[in-house]
Amino acid sequence: WFKEAIRNHLLPILTVSGVGGGIILGLILRYSRAEGWTKREIMYVGYLGELFLRALKALIIPLIVSSLVSAIGSLDLSLSKKIGLRAVGYYMSTTCLAVILGIILVVTIHPGRGSDDGIQKKGKGRVVYTPDLLMDLPRNLFPPNLVQACFETYKTVIHKPDLSDPTDKHTAHLIQKYNLSDGEMPPKEEWPIGNDYARAMNIMGLVSFATAMGLALASLGPKGKPLLDFFHALSEATMVMTKWLIWISPLGILFLVASMMIEMEDFSVMLGQLGMYFGTVVLGIMIHGLIVLPTIYTVVTRKTPFKFLANMTQAYITAFATASSSGTLPVTFRCLEENNKVDPRVTRFVIPIGATINMDGTALYEAVAAIFIAQVRGMTLSIGQIIAISITATAAAIGAAGIPQAGLVTMVMVLDVVGLPAEDMTLIIAVDWFLDRFRTMINVLGDSIGAGLVYELSKKELDTLGNVNVNGDLERP
Ligand code: ASP
Repeated sequence: WFKEAIRNHLLPILTVSGVGGGIILGLILRYSRAEGWTKREIMYVGYLGELFLRALKALIIPLIVSSLVSAIGSLDLSLSKKIGLRAVGYYMSTTCLAVILGIILVVTIHPGRGSDDGIQKKGKGRVVYTPDLLMDLPRNLFPPNLVQACFETYKTVIHKPDLSDPTDKHTAHLIQKYNLSDGEMPPKEEWPIGNDYARAMNIMGLVSFATAMGLALASLGPKGKPLLDFFHALSEATMVMTKWLIWISPLGILFLVASMMIEMEDFSVMLGQLGMYFGTVVLGIMIHGLIVLPTIYTVVTRKTPFKFLANMTQAYITAFATASSSGTLPVTFRCLEENNKVDPRVTRFVIPIGATINMDGTALYEAVAAIFIAQVRGMTLSIGQIIAISITATAAAIGAAGIPQAGLVTMVMVLDVVGLPAEDMTLIIAVDWFLDRFRTMINVLGDSIGAGLVYELSKKELDTLGNVNVNGDLERP
């Protein structure tokens, strides 16, 4: 039976060994040299991991687009609506629960002691304006150019007005309107608005377009069949490539983890308030991932969650090693479909959307981090401010892309809403890259439980529509 067990669970065993091997290799290298390692040397150690990551990232766009179009295109419009509503209902409610949990913990534990001691302020600030950040979310939902959306995300920027030339008409107007003396600035509402692009895929835009395309194909009926077949074939081919890549993942993970161990800050940064902050986020994440979400799954589906969660191990480990829920997408698909036998019409519909907008770990972290920073700065927050933090933390988590440390970037919005400068993010930067891995794991876990739950709720309706056979084709009853 031992041989049998190993054969059946070879991949998770190899993956866990990859993590263990990476930790051991990293620690040996780290402590074998007193003077430490240079950035370049660390890059050499992580090189094979980097290759694995690049291959994984290459699958993101074909996977998201083809799976969404083919899944939604082969469903009834009314069933798509039901599945979509169930998924979004789950995403919204669990994200809110995560934020509330984070706030309760950070207010009770109070990791920030109310002084700047020991934490250095560095880096330069970015001018942000909350309404712009909020309006950029829907803007990115409607990308004007799909090719550009594959590598750029839109963001609004506002510039400090240059008041040095009082003969300029606009400057003269501002100086007069606000009665500005030397060095004074008009309010942010008067600052010139410009635009900029971040070098990151606008996955949200691609998801919204692919969803609309799927709905259009579903409503077209037989006329849309050739295109639907195309996306279906693309989706299957990408899945096969995913399968190949997953067998290489233990090796990639080994080198990613090894380089992480060498690069990691000294454990001494974890002492003091930064450590308390880290502990608060991790505690929240664990309560949410190990108690709240599994309980919701059990209550809704009347099934125990243990096997389901254990079957997803490979996805959590990949999330930890890559710090990217989009990068983990291929693995999440496989674990759900192969191990948990979730219907591909559900996974391929809800997982790309979930990996883009449903980030419970990130939401919890955004709330904890903003309140921690306020505590360090000695601010007392009113109930109104805490509510504002919860709302913007939810928006910041929805807006964060599934890539490493995206949550840190969108946190400027949460800080801005309580009047903290964007540069205060630097207070938590030392541990952020490590914390990112834990929140990504919970983001992936949340998406997976969501898919499992929506599947259980939609089983009957899916059965009446027909079964998906081994080739992924729909067999109507
Ligand atoms: N890295 C996270 C993810 O990919 C996002 C974040 O919180 O930074 O899910």
